[in-house]
Amino acid sequence: MARRSFTAPSSGWVAARLEADSGDWDLGLFDQATGSRVAGGSSLGASEVASGLAARGQELTLQACRRSGTAEDAKITVDATAIDPDAKVERSSLVRVSTPNRDRKTELTNLGLDMAEHGGPGYLEVVLHGADDADKLREAKFAFTTEERDLAVTDQAAREADARFAQRVRASALPSQRTSYRTLADYTMEMKRLAEQNPDIVKSISLPFKTYEGRTVEGIEITEDVDRRDGKPVFLNMGVHHAREWPAGEHPMEWAYELVNGYKANNPRVRNLMGRARTVVVPIINPDGFNHSRTRGTAAASGPGGGRGAPNPGQENEIVNILSNPTGEYRRKNCRLADNSESGNCDAAFAAGLAATGVDPNRNYGGLWGGPGAGEGITDETYRGPGPFSEPETKNVKDLVSKRQVTTLITNHTFSDLILRPPGLQSLGDPPDENRGYKALGDAMAAENGYLSQKGFELYDTTGTTEDWSYGATGGFGFTFEIGCTEPTINEESGEKVGCDQGHFHPPYAEMVKEYEGNTTRSDETRDGQGNREAYFIALESTANSNRHSVIAGDAPSGAVLRLKKSFKTKTSPVLRGGEETEVQEFDDNLDTTLRVGGTGLFEWHINPSTRPDVAKTRGRPRQGEPSPKVDFSGSPGGPPADGATPSGDANSEEPVFHNEHVFQVPANGGGVDNAEFTVRIEWATITSDWDTRLYRDANSNGIVDGGDPVVGTSQQGTTDFEQISLAEPYTPGQYIFRVNNFAATEAYTGTVTFQSPPPFQPAIQERWTLTCETPEGRARTTQQVLIDRNQSKPIDFGSACPRSISANAGLDALAFARRTCLAPRRGIRGKRVGPAALSRTRARQRRILRRPRLKSRKGIDRYCVIGGGTLRAGYPTRRLNAGMSSRARKRIRKRAVLAISTSKRFRLRKLRVGSRTRTLRKRLKGERRIRVGKNVWYTDGAKRTRLLFRTRRGRVRELGLGNKRLTTTRRGTVRFLRAWDRRGL
Ligand SMILES: [Zn+2]
Repeated sequence: MARRSFTAPSSGWVAARLEADSGDWDLGLFDQATGSRVAGGSSLGASEVASGLAARGQELTLQACRRSGTAEDAKITVDATAIDPDAKVERSSLVRVSTPNRDRKTELTNLGLDMAEHGGPGYLEVVLHGADDADKLREAKFAFTTEERDLAVTDQAAREADARFAQRVRASALPSQRTSYRTLADYTMEMKRLAEQNPDIVKSISLPFKTYEGRTVEGIEITEDVDRRDGKPVFLNMGVHHAREWPAGEHPMEWAYELVNGYKANNPRVRNLMGRARTVVVPIINPDGFNHSRTRGTAAASGPGGGRGAPNPGQENEIVNILSNPTGEYRRKNCRLADNSESGNCDAAFAAGLAATGVDPNRNYGGLWGGPGAGEGITDETYRGPGPFSEPETKNVKDLVSKRQVTTLITNHTFSDLILRPPGLQSLGDPPDENRGYKALGDAMAAENGYLSQKGFELYDTTGTTEDWSYGATGGFGFTFEIGCTEPTINEESGEKVGCDQGHFHPPYAEMVKEYEGNTTRSDETRDGQGNREAYFIALESTANSNRHSVIAGDAPSGAVLRLKKSFKTKTSPVLRGGEETEVQEFDDNLDTTLRVGGTGLFEWHINPSTRPDVAKTRGRPRQGEPSPKVDFSGSPGGPPADGATPSGDANSEEPVFHNEHVFQVPANGGGVDNAEFTVRIEWATITSDWDTRLYRDANSNGIVDGGDPVVGTSQQGTTDFEQISLAEPYTPGQYIFRVNNFAATEAYTGTVTFQSPPPFQPAIQERWTLTCETPEGRARTTQQVLIDRNQSKPIDFGSACPRSISANAGLDALAFARRTCLAPRRGIRGKRVGPAALSRTRARQRRILRRPRLKSRKGIDRYCVIGGGTLRAGYPTRRLNAGMSSRARKRIRKRAVLAISTSKRFRLRKLRVGSRTRTLRKRLKGERRIRVGKNVWYTDGAKRTRLLFRTRRGRVRELGLGNKRLTTTRRGTVRFLRAWDRRGL
């Protein structure tokens, strides 16, 4: 451990970095006066970043600690980034924006504002960071009301409530019993500790792409026998793509404790699930952003003056000035600074007045990237990034999912009480698995946490989100959880919850506990649900349920590596530039997963179906004709008596004097005509004019808009020189009326109606996995293609190619591996010995001598695998065997092996082996005894000090070995012996 003192040179961020050659190091920055932690870094390995806030002149202690390894030196650097105390402070507020229809929703999401992932009937909520954002709304003529004028005030109250909660409640109802939000260092430290203390069931993982601030993204894997690549299906539970969504990290972390605690307490449900499925928890996907948000959250609540108030120029020891700017605490994105440079730093960006830069990780996934619902510019709050998968955060998740068979995925966010599944765009239609378990699983989880289970686009259209890629490319069921609504919207008539009225990105901790436990009003009173705890259990149960995925099984040499691979191109959306659709991009996707065959040589691999959902469904349709010719029209501003519309300042005015109307026909398909879609568009000279539009279907074909004519689309932008409405199949052909309203236009417009052909026909296709059997060094011995659907299992036969080549040629390492896990069948059966096992040995001694991990031990039987295939069973007295025996006889065999038999073909007994014919056996044995027990027929024969045992079935020897001689002298005794461990026989 090394300590160093220093004084903060300025008010602002201090960041300490440590680099060493090897080992595991931790780093901490502490306030000398109080001893409290200012910043910490506790990730795995020899690279640490710890950044936090300090005031000028504050005395700090930097502490570096080597937890393991031998590296003597570590390079430590400290940077300070001053923050201008006089900088303009922008207030963050939460507003509710009226969005009466889908088009308005799309227009709003395209403004690049900070969408709150929350909406209700006719509105969406948006976080405004300062006056410029409010101006954007006004320019686009959105009506909005303010829900929370100053998020920092709300937050201050929440942290005060947290302090009271922590004081009142010593241990919360959470599995970890925590009472307050974790910091980044808390997460990494706790994960490290869980892995250290539970090495059999918890393993640390580090994802390969470092973040812009130099952090490693970490997680843990949790399952029985966690180090084995065992082919169990995987449940990935992750959180905090968005920096400010603190509960989204707490819940997956608590889930890790849930499993570990349950396992240790012998909870049968947890034990069962951990034997059948693997859980991967990555609580913080965006650690840079989270550290920034979380650090500022603490500071804002604890600084002098309570961390509140207006800027206080000149008060150098008072970091309230910095802290009262809540932009950082309500940060959403990662820390990228510029499109053309792979660098980024949230702290420095903030100090330089560039706080608005960054990429929204949940718009950067490659599947459908670049389409609607994502920002095009780096200061947009939903910025999609410079390219698909351009960010370390999404690259990490791609890597994680591509190298494992993740059959279930939950990505946690806040706040709206939703469980979302694909598609993110309505136009894509239902996913192919909608009614093959996908919807059912979402609904089952929602019944527990009281959220609404729905398709992603029902909140608003988005592209580039996690499941857009993960489900489309792998077929694993992926869900977005929006945790934490505090005030649901209830339908007064039905009493059903129909939306969320109020919530918070990181509410008081007590609320967060309720969401996990299922004590919220919704989950408790209206549905009797049991919260996200139970929702995650359901996700894990679904993961373990082989009807929801695919299974391949067979045998292969122990130690061999089986590999399932698939390489393909995934498409983005037509990339929007300036709102116009441009090219579709493609990028490489490589799914590459492995399983190591265990000691028995038998494998069972739980995998995703071989055909991607992206190509499993037919898209488009064949063309049946040509699109109709385009229709031109035009209009002008004016006023009575001129023929034109007068400015009204009202986008939805019904007065004829304020609008022009254009009537046109949409021909029905057939007779050489094929219109899959049509678009009405007007353009004018400059953005100083503002026309707004509405499209009606003229249901009664009378040429005027009247009562029964439905509005089928609106386009009412501000500060543009065009408006456009598109309608795609299924639409009703016939007469339409396009109304052009003069909001504030002085220029004439020209318009067109254009008709489009259907999208290119892409018939559904089937895809196959490529399965190889490899030597441990990765040389493929045999390759085959596997076509497998959901809810299917298939036997795999490698023929002789894989086993023979591995054991005969390249198998040394495979053998070495097998030696570490299985028993060697050397020395055959001699005296009281069967290979390395022996009769009469005590159980404890036998286990010490055999040293190998047992496949199973129960009811007096220890079962081991044997190199080359097969098992060896060592049996010890059971209560059933002891029954009816004299106490002397009982004492003689107490705790000692009375049975050693094996199914390995390597053992010979009387020149017989497993696989020999029963007929041959009968010839070889003299004076043998034949006993049927259950489905097996046993033959026994006497030897000098033991009884020879042969188990046969359907004409062949299946198992052979030795039994205690005294216990099998009579026929009755032999039957009791063979039934001693199981009524149906050994
Ligand atoms: Zn989010």
